[in-house]
Amino acid sequence: MKISRTFLTITLLLFPAISIAQSLPSPKSLKAVKFGKLWDARGKLWTNAIVLIEDDKIKSVTTNPSDIPPRAQIIDLSKFTGLPGLIDVHTHMTNYTDETPGKPMLKQLVDNPPAVEVFLARKGALRTLEAGVTTVRDLGSDQYMDIAMRDLINHGEMIGPRMFVCGYGLTVTSTPYKPGLNLPAGGIADGVPEVLRAVRQQVAAGADVIKLFASTGTDDDVTGFETYSYDEIKAAVDAAHQFGKKIAIHSYGPDGARDAVRAGTDSLEHATDMDDATIQEMARRGTFYVPTIDHNRYYLDNWQQIGYANGFQEKTKAFIERNLETARRAIKAGVKFAMGSDAIYTMFGENTRELGWFVKAGMTPEQALRTATTNAAELLGKPTELGAVAPGYFADLVAVEGDPLANIDVAIKNVRWVMKSGQVVVDKVSSNSSTR
Ligand SMILES: [Zn+2]
Repeated sequence: MKISRTFLTITLLLFPAISIAQSLPSPKSLKAVKFGKLWDARGKLWTNAIVLIEDDKIKSVTTNPSDIPPRAQIIDLSKFTGLPGLIDVHTHMTNYTDETPGKPMLKQLVDNPPAVEVFLARKGALRTLEAGVTTVRDLGSDQYMDIAMRDLINHGEMIGPRMFVCGYGLTVTSTPYKPGLNLPAGGIADGVPEVLRAVRQQVAAGADVIKLFASTGTDDDVTGFETYSYDEIKAAVDAAHQFGKKIAIHSYGPDGARDAVRAGTDSLEHATDMDDATIQEMARRGTFYVPTIDHNRYYLDNWQQIGYANGFQEKTKAFIERNLETARRAIKAGVKFAMGSDAIYTMFGENTRELGWFVKAGMTPEQALRTATTNAAELLGKPTELGAVAPGYFADLVAVEGDPLANIDVAIKNVRWVMKSGQVVVDKVSSNSSTR
């Protein structure tokens, strides 16, 4: 990991920008980023593209060097392929844990006070940026740590991806949030009136999106028993929509998935073993499927450090296969997908490995990239600001080495440089930067 070098780069790059911003009126920051190839996520693959940036937004995309305004800082990435900043629609940013030897990560989540968790989370945030992810939808925190982190990042006090957060996820009494963890009381809601109160409480606290856990299943537990009734789920969906918020519903199994889709959820998380009628209904309604196949791979690879009891592995392996098979069926049926990693603990930085599973399930690399760009932006309700390289969009850009449309691993493993809102946040190329 190149955290310290990246952090140094970020520090050096951000501080001048901050001091300029403080001495108003400031001249506009102009940048021109040159890419050998550029996939703009809007159907065009450019050759020798120049992305012109004014402050935090993209002004235009051109191939004509004479369009570069005087005084623009030129960033030469012509050896690389450009992509829009990627979007991960399912993270748990505030549940980052460090690699303290001998202390299981589950135990760290129990022991760490919220301030420690938010402080540690800055490392996960940097690793997420290093994976090319400039925006996340964070689906479950407690003590409103996610709201704090979102605001710290937006204020420039913490470096990380742009966050859309949910506050507490809604759970029924006795649904384990994490094994060995006390349930965060703020999210417990039983019966329609309590569900309504809990949704309204998250909105009042400043949540961008609502999350509801409609089944059991998390960590080394892959059971998928439906926990909420259809009426409770419908109440949550309608209450969220009443406030103009979208809702993400967790279901490991098919029953919670069926009721979540029927109730009108905007996205369905995990959802394995869905019946054909539910998959057809998702395609008809345009419900997003966020299968999070890779997070169980991460649990299998890291179970000892996390602190799971031995013996869960066979069930989890079987679940991954069923998850992949459900994704295959959903792709064939024309269901819309968005990329969500479910990154937690030390999984940050591996956010985009999910794209590899999507290709394995039958998508082309380009279709997979859409799940982390245009599709994800649509799910966030930001289709004209995020997920594409075009005028008016946030200047979120990623440079990868190789051709990601030929091999999705290029997007997963070969990220060399990242810009978020017009600021370079990852630089592993020591690019030839100059001013004209
Ligand atoms: Zn999750």
